[in-house]
Amino acid sequence: MTSLEWVKDEIRELKDSGRFVPIRIIESSQGAWIKIDGKMKLNMCSNNYLGLANNPEVRKAAKEAIDEFGVGAGAVRSIAGTNELHARLEEKVARFKHMESSLVYQGGLLANSGTIPALVGKEDIVFSEELNHASIIDGVRLSSASRAVFKHMDMEDLEKVMAEKRKSGRRSLIITDGVFSMDGDIAPLKEIVEIAERHDSMTYVDDAHGEGVLGDHGRGICDHFKLSGRVDVEMGTFSKAVGSMGGFVAGNADLIELLKRKARPFLFSSALNPADTAAVMKSIEIMEKDDSLLRKLWSNSEKLKKGLLNAGFNLGNSKTPITPVIVGDEKKTLLLSEELYRENDIFASPIVFPTVARGTARIRLMPSAVHSADDINRTVEAFESAGKKLGITGK
Ligand SMILES: *Cc1c(COP(=O)(O)O)cnc(C)c1O
Repeated sequence: MTSLEWVKDEIRELKDSGRFVPIRIIESSQGAWIKIDGKMKLNMCSNNYLGLANNPEVRKAAKEAIDEFGVGAGAVRSIAGTNELHARLEEKVARFKHMESSLVYQGGLLANSGTIPALVGKEDIVFSEELNHASIIDGVRLSSASRAVFKHMDMEDLEKVMAEKRKSGRRSLIITDGVFSMDGDIAPLKEIVEIAERHDSMTYVDDAHGEGVLGDHGRGICDHFKLSGRVDVEMGTFSKAVGSMGGFVAGNADLIELLKRKARPFLFSSALNPADTAAVMKSIEIMEKDDSLLRKLWSNSEKLKKGLLNAGFNLGNSKTPITPVIVGDEKKTLLLSEELYRENDIFASPIVFPTVARGTARIRLMPSAVHSADDINRTVEAFESAGKKLGITGK
């Protein structure tokens, strides 16, 4: 008996309940097809919406940045780690988002867990959407603010919870995912902003899955709803549609200056490296110049959804390219994923509790701009036959 005996027990429990998901090792660059176990597989579950993770121009920009600036930033941003690339990227992001200013972090998770505690503290209150991303939940916990959860997409509930609790906090913050990452539905941001204005509350949207996907040229959810400037903090990531690594918040210039003195990932974790910073800049340049990738992403996703609906699958309430194929049962979802992988060379990871609620296990398909019509058809056909075989669709 060692002190770590409990680890074995926990792993056994995970396996018994169908929650021990295999982690595949990818032996190639990201793209529509990737190499796993020495074999090419159709990749249907990356967040590389626009294919920018392996875009030749973006690769070139990253290499050039290494030649000029080396591989490491050398320090935390506040001491000796802020280089010219960070400053240029921050200007570019602010312009792209139609906001006054922006701050670049090393990742989206850090943007949330660093920014939220800088905005609210223990005298304050956060109104948090029920399905918010884990990094928001962590940020709220780290802030020590009290937390009131409102129901998913339910503005009556938000209004009710705010009427009850707003006065108990000094400052107030309403925080929501823009696009919900496991369901693909879109937060009613306009209504949220109106409620916030009535109750004297700040607003914060995490647009990780809206960046590069929603709005003009992929400017994100605020542009999509014509709300630019009315949401106090727009947060996003560079690891999804933008194809690289890093996160940011955009907001007014004073707020950004304050974050530079308060946000712990800015003060206590080394800066984003030159290659990633330059890659992000090039990706945004590509997005600004041309929206053909964006249009291809949407047409692929419409084709995929139509095919799967016709085949009898439950796709929930998705309004974006995120395509959740909701199976429900955890073990059946793992079997479906295995079947697609073995019989059809389709890589589509199962998603189970705690990433989604118990009993809503799913395969979340992520079409991209670099998938071909054949890739989409192949996916629909494979789901159709696997769904029948495993008794999921019954058609
Ligand atoms: C992926 C994601 C994050 C984290 O972003 P990273 O840059 O990968 O750390 C934060 N919020 C949401 C909603 C996400 O989907």
